[in-house]
Amino acid sequence: MELIVARNREDLVKVRHEGTVALVPTMGALHEGHRSLIRQARVRADQVVVSIFVNPLQFGPNEDFSRYPRTFEADLDVCRAEGVDVVFHPSAEDMYTPDRQVSVSAGEMGRVVEGAFRPGHFDGVLTVVLKLFNLVRPDLAVFGQKDAQQLALIRRMVADLDLPIEILGAPTVREPDGLALSSRNRYLSDDDRRVALALSRALRTGAAELAPAEIRRAARAVLDAAGPELTVDYLALVDPATFAEVSDDYVGLAVLAVAAKVGGTRLIDNVTLTLNPA
Ligand code: AMP
Repeated sequence: MELIVARNREDLVKVRHEGTVALVPTMGALHEGHRSLIRQARVRADQVVVSIFVNPLQFGPNEDFSRYPRTFEADLDVCRAEGVDVVFHPSAEDMYTPDRQVSVSAGEMGRVVEGAFRPGHFDGVLTVVLKLFNLVRPDLAVFGQKDAQQLALIRRMVADLDLPIEILGAPTVREPDGLALSSRNRYLSDDDRRVALALSRALRTGAAELAPAEIRRAARAVLDAAGPELTVDYLALVDPATFAEVSDDYVGLAVLAVAAKVGGTRLIDNVTLTLNPA
């Protein structure tokens, strides 16, 4: 089947739905992580829709919106190779009219951890994801665990706003040396990349411990050892559903999350681990 490219909402409404529809929202510059989401969607759905939209609403004034990588033709090749049925690639003008007023609030959960460093980010994410859900009308949607707080907030939005959409989480795809794949990795110089490995190394080292205090200490030691080229925004050990910091006697699954800047590039990563197992 020929790949359909819908460049605006009028194009999209002309696309006929066939059976189960899966949506994979992305900002493009597609890599193996995105491919794994598309494959997960392909297994579950008759029709796979990939959206490619660099959403201005989720970038802060001093963030990388204007220089975010845009590689649309290469992204289409990836989508063709993965058997995607529809690519939705709207313009910002098509998504957001100048008279718009109403948006989604991520609540308190959108203001902690990653949200504390990116005010308004998760409101922008949830607003565009809800719009994409309404425009595409999928039965299911796939998101990466790489953006663990985003995934948790999307699950929260679906529950709180009664959206009839199944949310699937996909594991983080990494380079052989541990670096989590990200569209922003292309900003990294060779030296930056070596420094950036401290993120995944810190998470692995932390995950080898069992108690919260030891996990935090072990991971922090690795980040500190990376030197002044690494500026850590946060290292957080949180409940995966709420992103609230866990207490020392917490039992069960938790997320160890980190964000840091390397040479002007901000990277995030996380792992899921089990705390204080019996
Ligand atoms: P982005 O294009 O960065 O907005 O990401 C689009 C989707 O791909 C999100 O659901 C991300 O969590 C997911 N994603 C990004 N990087 C990875 C990765 N390394 N492994 C798995 N999923 C990823």
